[in-house]
Amino acid sequence: MLILDCPCCGVRGEETEFHSGGEAHLKRFGPGSSDDEFHGYLFEKVNPKGVHFERWRHVNGCGKWFHAARCTMTLEVFGTYSAQTLEPPQEIKDKITAKRPGWSWREFS
Ligand SMILES: [Zn+2]
Repeated sequence: MLILDCPCCGVRGEETEFHSGGEAHLKRFGPGSSDDEFHGYLFEKVNPKGVHFERWRHVNGCGKWFHAARCTMTLEVFGTYSAQTLEPPQEIKDKITAKRPGWSWREFS
């Protein structure tokens, strides 16, 4: 069972209280971008076996979006944080590195 803490209202709940919104930290491409950039934004998503950063919405609570860092194999949650960030907070990256030595993904390490 996946247990998440909403960083917006502080409520802890199981995943049925939340709704997944897919991969977090996507670089968005809009008008004026190339077809390849827009295609990549729409269709090319990572699906790692291990550490993953996701968007979640607290649908049966405050209704706000946030980000979660978790392991897709063990369902271990490394932390949740505001959706208004460009990358995970350093404390969450440090926690992941401590538990998954050698881990890296994109520019985060
Ligand atoms: Zn909430």
